Amino acid sequence: MSASDHSSSRRSFLARTAAVMAVPSIAALAGGILAEPAAAETTLPDYAPVPPSALGPTLNEQGYYVGRVERNLYWVTDGTYQAAFLTTHDGVVLFDAPPTIGHNLQRAIDQIAAANGVSNKVTHLVYSHHHADHLGASSLFGRNVVRIGHAETRRLLLRDNDPARPAPDVTFKDDYMLRVGGQRIKLAWHGTNHSPDNIYIHLPDHDTLMLVDVALPGWVPIYNLNLSEDIPGFMAAPATALSYPWKHYIAGHLGRLGNRKDVILHQQYVTDIAESARTALATVDPTPYFAKYGANAWAAVKTYLDAVTDYAAAPVVAKYTGVLAAADVFTASSTLVILESIRLDLGFGSQIHP
Ligand SMILES: [Zn+2]
Repeated sequence: MSASDHSSSRRSFLARTAAVMAVPSIAALAGGILAEPAAAETTLPDYAPVPPSALGPTLNEQGYYVGRVERNLYWVTDGTYQAAFLTTHDGVVLFDAPPTIGHNLQRAIDQIAAANGVSNKVTHLVYSHHHADHLGASSLFGRNVVRIGHAETRRLLLRDNDPARPAPDVTFKDDYMLRVGGQRIKLAWHGTNHSPDNIYIHLPDHDTLMLVDVALPGWVPIYNLNLSEDIPGFMAAPATALSYPWKHYIAGHLGRLGNRKDVILHQQYVTDIAESARTALATVDPTPYFAKYGANAWAAVKTYLDAVTDYAAAPVVAKYTGVLAAADVFTASSTLVILESIRLDLGFGSQIHP
């Protein structure tokens, strides 16, 4: 292979990676590392293969897939992020606008609207929560779209003042029934979980629940249980999700739709981590860490809690490798926040000085 072949194949590899993994900003940040792929490949760790059950449909040439969820409800993915939309007599209701899907959102809507002879005009945009990775393409839909979200979503977006994410015009605190073109969309807030403003989007006439950044079908959560702000709230969310009647689950992440089994499996995974963390906290002896590091309290705390985390994570990684993708990648990270929540939220192991 000539140098120019190599560089063009590397360029196309990077372009494909950016499209498939939807991490162009991370790729750009890591430009210095990516310039030396051969060196990195020799030092990067190996992980267990992704189970086929975690993967979704193939993306088209533009880097997206759009499919029907049920009747006039559709979902769009770039392989990592997901949005959804409902076509109605009065226009399209869009649910989230991830920037990685970006202009492919309208392309997907155009494709479905043309095939069904319905309007392709987005009139309403429902926000699942305020995070930029799910809303950063909101401004593409202009000023005249009605944006609906939780009151806390509005407060946080006004605070963060990002022109890509206009604050919602229509807000609610507990629940809200959105009706567009004869369709019913039930929005509800059941307390903090992944974020303080994350809502449950229920489409009762489409047997669908959209709950973003909680259970990720086929995959374990990323860092720290999906970077969640309220660990007990996050751990309670699957039961709330399962209390609704639905068949299809739109998780906001990765390449396929979910179902009830996916949410139950996620719930079991988190429960297993919590049980293992309690065992580890009761088993790993802190004495040698504090003996070795003496006055360096943080060194003792870190090495002790890292040891508890490893002890707790190991059986969970073994159980879920081949069942949930990336169990060997992120279980330790999520285990640390769960064991910290068990200590700090629940008070497990807390002792009053005599
Ligand atoms: Zn989020």
